[in-house]
Amino acid sequence: MKYKSTRNEKIRVAGAQAIVQGLSAEGGLFVPEKLPSVSESDILSLCQKSYAERAFEIFKLFLTDFGDEEIRNCVTKAYGDNFDTENIAEISHLLTGTYILELWHGPTCAFKDMALQILPHLLTVSAKKTVPDKKIAILVATSGDTGKAALEGFKDVEGTTISVFYPEDGVSDMQKRQMATQEGGNVFVCAVKGNFDDCQNGVKAIFTDKGIAEELNKKGIILSSANSINWGRLCPQIVYYISAYAELIKNEEIKCGEKINIVVPTGNFGNILAAYYAKEMGLPVNKLICASNSNNVLTDFIKTGIYDRNREFYTTISPSMDILISSNLERLLYHLSGEKTEEINKWFGLLKEQGKYEVSQDVKSRLSQLFYAGCCNDSETKAAIKECFESYSYLMDTHTAVAYKVYGDYKRETGDNTKTVIASTANPYKFGAAVYSAVGGSSEGIDEFAVIERLEKKTGTSIPLPLASTKNKEVRFKGVIEREKMPEAVVDFLNEQK
Ligand SMILES: *Cc1c(COP(=O)(O)O)cnc(C)c1O
Repeated sequence: MKYKSTRNEKIRVAGAQAIVQGLSAEGGLFVPEKLPSVSESDILSLCQKSYAERAFEIFKLFLTDFGDEEIRNCVTKAYGDNFDTENIAEISHLLTGTYILELWHGPTCAFKDMALQILPHLLTVSAKKTVPDKKIAILVATSGDTGKAALEGFKDVEGTTISVFYPEDGVSDMQKRQMATQEGGNVFVCAVKGNFDDCQNGVKAIFTDKGIAEELNKKGIILSSANSINWGRLCPQIVYYISAYAELIKNEEIKCGEKINIVVPTGNFGNILAAYYAKEMGLPVNKLICASNSNNVLTDFIKTGIYDRNREFYTTISPSMDILISSNLERLLYHLSGEKTEEINKWFGLLKEQGKYEVSQDVKSRLSQLFYAGCCNDSETKAAIKECFESYSYLMDTHTAVAYKVYGDYKRETGDNTKTVIASTANPYKFGAAVYSAVGGSSEGIDEFAVIERLEKKTGTSIPLPLASTKNKEVRFKGVIEREKMPEAVVDFLNEQK
């Protein structure tokens, strides 16, 4: 299996190369040359397997340049007791036929663990194949969930280091605490005076600085990133949709071959794109339902075929979806356009220059066959949390609540009774203040830990251990620096590591 670029027809690279590189040289994204397929009997054969074994079978289809032992090693390290449930991804029921796929049982309580627990292992194997004898230095700019999930994934992984920068006042208290107490001998965390864009620009400046690259190269270090356009993050996300389907068959909730809907709270379009790939591979899926918060650029796009980022940006209570440019959409449009790189170059050129493009009629009609899209503001999100908790005693986080609300709209609008899986992307305690307020509490004047303790009392649910334990952990990283000092901070850290 080779990977090609969405922006240059001529490029073909192996899986390991795609993972080490992240992005194709001309700026395109790597996509599989030809999607592998899964038959009904393939799916049935997964039913009695563990999550790690299911992951092994799917990865084998995509990473044909990896040996079986290499893949087995990666999945065993990634999906074990670092998750708080043996099933890795747990399925909860609301009503008959409505299932919540809990993707947050990993060490940071958000769905990004599903991919970032395995990416470091995929990356070290890939590096051995493509850039042997090099150490990999990961750089991350984060506005919250990604930084912590990447730190947990890369901590103490041999041959790697990780440096994370976050905006001093741009993350929640809990997120800050989670990062500042990070354990591991190869990790560096630092706050930056400025906003997320400053952090992002600072990281980009390090990546493009030839002097730094040369200096590091002499020491046998290459820089890499862990962001969500890397194929090594997408592939693990395909696994949980196929695994969930197998699990529903095993639990006699569905028959093999029966179609399901999948609802996904969407930001950068990575999670829902994985569901699309699973469908294209042969998983019986009816509609893909794309749920957005007030930053509803995708809702408009799926409805009209016009992508327009020229609009107000809202800071919401579902911050991991506060995004106006969804990078992974490029992969979907590449496939829907019939893999026409010239169309992709045209549209994404326009996006860069004018912030706006319109896709062809063909792509529009494919979009509306495959997807339903809807959005939801903060007060609707809170109302959804309250309603779901009162009806089913099930407490959702703010992102999952957006999906729940949009699914309700879909059902009312279409009358479709197809069984449905809602992707749940974070534990509710990760966004404790908003969730507490949704169920009628007030967090005014009390700290993050007091809030989640009250939420626990009020709802009879429990604070997950990884969040509770940060209370008593040592704060290791107190640094706050100017953006201009970021290169120096990274180089100093890497020098100490040697
Ligand atoms: C990252 C994230 C999302 C958005 O996922 P995408 O793959 O970027 O669409 C949704 N919810 C939570 C909690 C997240 O951390």
